[in-house]
Amino acid sequence: MPAFEVNAPSYVYVKQAGAPLRRGASSNYQSLKTLAANERLAVLYEYHGWLNVETSNGVRGWVEESSTSTVALNSLVEPTFSTINEDAYLTWKKTSNFRVSYSLLPGNRLKITGSFSYAEVPSTDIPGIQTVEWTGSSLLITLEPGYTFTLRHYSDRLALKILETGLKGKKIIIDAGHGAHDTGAIGPGGTREKDITLDTALLVKEELERAGAIVKLTRSTDIFLELSERTWIANSSDYDAFISIHADSYSRTSRGTTTYYNVSSNFNGPKSEQLAAIVQKHLVQQLGTYDRGHKTQDFYVNRKNELPSILVELAFISNPNEEALLKTKAFRQKAAVGIREGLEEYFNQF
Ligand SMILES: [Zn+2]
Repeated sequence: MPAFEVNAPSYVYVKQAGAPLRRGASSNYQSLKTLAANERLAVLYEYHGWLNVETSNGVRGWVEESSTSTVALNSLVEPTFSTINEDAYLTWKKTSNFRVSYSLLPGNRLKITGSFSYAEVPSTDIPGIQTVEWTGSSLLITLEPGYTFTLRHYSDRLALKILETGLKGKKIIIDAGHGAHDTGAIGPGGTREKDITLDTALLVKEELERAGAIVKLTRSTDIFLELSERTWIANSSDYDAFISIHADSYSRTSRGTTTYYNVSSNFNGPKSEQLAAIVQKHLVQQLGTYDRGHKTQDFYVNRKNELPSILVELAFISNPNEEALLKTKAFRQKAAVGIREGLEEYFNQF
């Protein structure tokens, strides 16, 4: 039998930054210090709605019980600057697996929100970043001119890759739709979608590499890949964008070019939408096809993708005129130029 028992200490967490730690159990007492949001306090005892507590560095005082919580707040903590594979990252740890989303604001600003009530801001200057602010409800990051970013969200962390603008050094995955026994659509003249997508993907790779980008193909030969293998390649990578290449099929009179993206499931919906609009614009300019616009969709490769990702339908293989175009190398080369120009514009802006 133990000589004495020690109760496990009970802890509370400060709900709001700036809550005062007071000398006594009333707001009339002088403030000893202001507490940080989510600061963990050991509870010594309770008195009429006030808690006598000790901070982690041994300061004792009183805090109003209503300004504390018995569970840690969902927070983004320990912002850390590091270089991984020659890319610069600012990474936050998540205190639990909570939801995070973001939106793009004018003036190179990124607004991060979600089911968290606090975010720590870095204490030192970070190259490419002008300011990081916690507004009380969102994390606002302003990048310096000449910088852009790729944001990744994981169960345990949020990683902001800070990039210089331009296509040089950007990491892009090109996904040739279909393959092997999955021929994709077949045109009235017998053209197989899987061949068009593969040849275009190879041309896009050349075009992007000439511009200094780093390209990974999900397939470079006539092999079959599950859709989940395609998204696994994207999600397990540190790449910046994913483009799936397809040819459309409906009727003999359907025509034009469409670019799809997903916002309902893809964490990178905002960036995907931006990428879709820009690539669609350049594709139509290059191809001279009817502009069907950029549209949201629930295609697996976009929905399950965690990168900014789009799916392009170059033209209708079911339309004999467009099938004839798709069969020419000149048309596929123009598609490659359009995709390269789109990515160039995309990485040149915030
Ligand atoms: Zn297809």
